[in-house]
Amino acid sequence: MLTHVRKNISEVEYHTWFVPVRPLGVQDGALVLGVRNSFAQEWFRKHYQDLLEDALRQLGASSPQVSFEVLPAVQDAMMAPATEPNPSSSRRTNPPQVVQTTSGTGSAKALNPKYIFENFVVGPNNNLAHAAALAVAESPGKTYNPLFVYGDVGLGKTHLMHAVGHYVLERHPEKRVEYVSTESFTNDLINAIREDRMTQFRNRYRSVDLLLVDDIQFLAGKERTQEEFFHTFNALYESHKQIILSSDRPPRDIQTLESRLRSRFEWGLITDIQSPEFETRVAILKMNAEHRRINIPQEVLELIARQVTSNIRELEGALVRVMAFSSLNNVSLSKAVAAKALSDVFTSQEVQIEMADVLRAVAAHFSVPLEALRGSGRVREVVVPRQIAMYLIRDLTGHSLPEVGVFFGRDHSTVLHATQKVSEQLGRDPELSTHIETLRRRLQGIEE
Ligand code: ADP
Ligand code: MG
Repeated sequence: MLTHVRKNISEVEYHTWFVPVRPLGVQDGALVLGVRNSFAQEWFRKHYQDLLEDALRQLGASSPQVSFEVLPAVQDAMMAPATEPNPSSSRRTNPPQVVQTTSGTGSAKALNPKYIFENFVVGPNNNLAHAAALAVAESPGKTYNPLFVYGDVGLGKTHLMHAVGHYVLERHPEKRVEYVSTESFTNDLINAIREDRMTQFRNRYRSVDLLLVDDIQFLAGKERTQEEFFHTFNALYESHKQIILSSDRPPRDIQTLESRLRSRFEWGLITDIQSPEFETRVAILKMNAEHRRINIPQEVLELIARQVTSNIRELEGALVRVMAFSSLNNVSLSKAVAAKALSDVFTSQEVQIEMADVLRAVAAHFSVPLEALRGSGRVREVVVPRQIAMYLIRDLTGHSLPEVGVFFGRDHSTVLHATQKVSEQLGRDPELSTHIETLRRRLQGIEE
């Protein structure tokens, strides 16, 4: 069956989704496959159900059925649970184990084991960067070189870079992968100069197959480092070795970057990661909770996702805080408990954003009359802002689909359709995401 699947999808897809799948047996005539988490479960239902049933048909099944179940987490791929359920089983009591790095050169040790593609939730905010990273991982040096990923702090740049590193090492353990922050590249260089070890320095960076350089914006103003990096870049580029760079801004906005470097950074593909939208934030929280083997009610995940909107590290921090709060106080997780746990951290958000606030802001932003937004006019100039208003209301207020429906004098499926439409387009339409970001900031009072 897998042979059939493999023929029909790319290597990358196969590796990302199918390798971790476990057959669990047959239940009520359906083949049950175990997948890692509920995100994967939804993904399989949406993208691979037909393909798999097709594969079974080819094997002679007359009315094949496949279903997907979330496997119990067997290992802490993501991180340790917040509360150790059984201290006696703690790893510390086990004999020390030799950690096997995948790379003979030992370069893999710098990669964070949890930063793999499987743990990276894809949404409209990051789907292009994710696709580019996968393409590069599949054929390093052959597609986009360099790959330049930029975005604000805490949005997954480092995670993606490491994911490429893991992917390459897993398939080609003999390859040399070097991950380095711009800061340590600089420090290495300074030390090499001081200790007269330039040849060694150059050998180290110029003999790799994949060079990952994080936070390249810190090259700004460092002339000697830029000079050296320029030569490293050329050496690798000319021998078709893959380079991936991350930054908090696009190359053109990095001040005092030599133009020859800037233009090189623009040779390959430049892609950005935006703040995750609501659904993606919820999916990330869900995955996190699953990795910790903790069941958290959907409404609590949604509450957290509403409080923390821009930084994924903070989003994870908020989740940990809520879990710790409930376990320390021995209360079960509810919306009220979560709100209390977060209240002193996110004081600025205590001001509840109301539906009318969103409507006013959208009306002003697009210069459309308020009544038109709540009316039923079908002209594009009104329809798009109306959809954006519905989307932002769902994103920023605690109101349910039916409540938003009532507010607009429509039923909930119209609201659902509008919000889905906006989130689908977000990934493709930079203008739309600028509108949304501006409005979001204005409504949250974090205008710059
Ligand atoms: P950056 O390098 O952009 O500052 P990181 O890669 O360090 O951000 O990501 C911050 C945290 O958020 C990490 O723990 C990372 O695993 C997590 N994270 C970021 N993006 C995602 C995503 N799409 N899915 C799951 N976790 C993510
Ligand atoms: Mg980073």
